[in-house]
Amino acid sequence: MSHKTRNMVRSLQLAAAVAPLLLASGAGAQGLTEQQQFARGIYQELVEINTTTATGDTQKAAEAMGARLRAAGFPESDVHVFSPAPHKGNLVARLHGSGARKPILLVAHIDVVPGLREDWTVDPFKLTEQDGYFYGRGSGDDKYMASAFITNLIRYKKEGYKPDRDIIVALETDEEILDANALGIQWLIKNHRDLIDAEFALNEGGGVGLKNGKAIRNSVQTSEKVSIGYLLTVKDRGGHSSLPRKDNAIYRLAEGLVRLSKYDFPMNLNETTRIYFAKTAEVDKSHADDIKAILAPQPDPAALARLSENPGYNAQLRTTCVATMLEGGHAINALPQLATAKVNCRILPGEPVEGVEATIERVLADKQIEVTPTGKAVLSPPSPLNEEVMGSIEKLSKEFWPDAEIVPVMSTGATDGSYLRNAGIPTYGHSGLGSDVDDNRAHGKDERVLVKSFYEGEEYLYRLVKMLAGGK
Ligand SMILES: [Zn+2]
Repeated sequence: MSHKTRNMVRSLQLAAAVAPLLLASGAGAQGLTEQQQFARGIYQELVEINTTTATGDTQKAAEAMGARLRAAGFPESDVHVFSPAPHKGNLVARLHGSGARKPILLVAHIDVVPGLREDWTVDPFKLTEQDGYFYGRGSGDDKYMASAFITNLIRYKKEGYKPDRDIIVALETDEEILDANALGIQWLIKNHRDLIDAEFALNEGGGVGLKNGKAIRNSVQTSEKVSIGYLLTVKDRGGHSSLPRKDNAIYRLAEGLVRLSKYDFPMNLNETTRIYFAKTAEVDKSHADDIKAILAPQPDPAALARLSENPGYNAQLRTTCVATMLEGGHAINALPQLATAKVNCRILPGEPVEGVEATIERVLADKQIEVTPTGKAVLSPPSPLNEEVMGSIEKLSKEFWPDAEIVPVMSTGATDGSYLRNAGIPTYGHSGLGSDVDDNRAHGKDERVLVKSFYEGEEYLYRLVKMLAGGK
């Protein structure tokens, strides 16, 4: 069957399936099915609880979702709300399967970054539906997934669905603070590992990329770069600015930073990024030749240099380090006694952290610039391209978005997937949520998701989890 025919058949099937539902439920003014209205209600409830990591209340959100599950018939013993600190909450819920296979874990974070009313055109903590979008802080990151997992778990329960394996939903706090003391997934792994133990997990990190409204790719995040900071320090005896000398802490540091700015870490591709580039070459015509040239057994340095000018591609090709903060001196009329800079590195999975520090020192080429790490890197192995997971995604995605390429990706930012991977639970970042590739508003003002993508993604996750969990 051609894509077009399959599409048509699928639309007819959908229309046939949806029509009686609309009639039966007397679908609301916006033509939503009963299921969609229910989904929207949970989403709205979650978006409208302010869960800003530092000042909001994730405990309230976790309790609200726990109440939804209990109201749907989940027993107390399968719905746990943990509150490791005031206003901090995690929810772990379970739908029992036959136990033939190890459970599957569905993870979403319920905390959000701040959203200021005066910056936004709408209230960030109200779900506003406007021009085909849902606006609200967390509407995409990550309350779409959190509400979809809860909605779908209730839907399975109502159907009497009996999977081959337990389906566990974990909603966590503190994902947005990147802190060793975070009380979300790290806390759950440490304190309730038995409740979340699974063969693999689905989490945020990959979604459906739309270009002019058309789905061009559906990504699966399998690995992440590791973030680590370094403090660069130059000390000097200082003195009066009326008697300057050639040795000056600010100049020394600045010259070192210029050397660092000109340095590129070597290209180093892994299983995920190789496939990522091979698939990208098929859709990005303007870079296709250069991509092919770097995938060749003898990568072409000129092609690599051109490709590296694109920050997105550059970040997939290599470890990167960049200066992000600068400080120095103590008075306008004094020679500086101290100059410091902070450098943030994003290290490829599999590359040793100590090697990066050694490289920075070599490139700075100045013994007087002292280099110290400002934190500890969390290394995590890439999740293997599991046949069952990737095969199910490949199959289902074709039904929803026939022209979208399935692309495994390595995140250059960080999610909590790294903690799960380190705990031995391979994790796949995959949301089914479509968004324009040129309209990323996560963490920004007027965060929004397409209404159509919201319902579509929720249905996609409903079916994907069923495929992965088996049974009937
Ligand atoms: Zn997120």
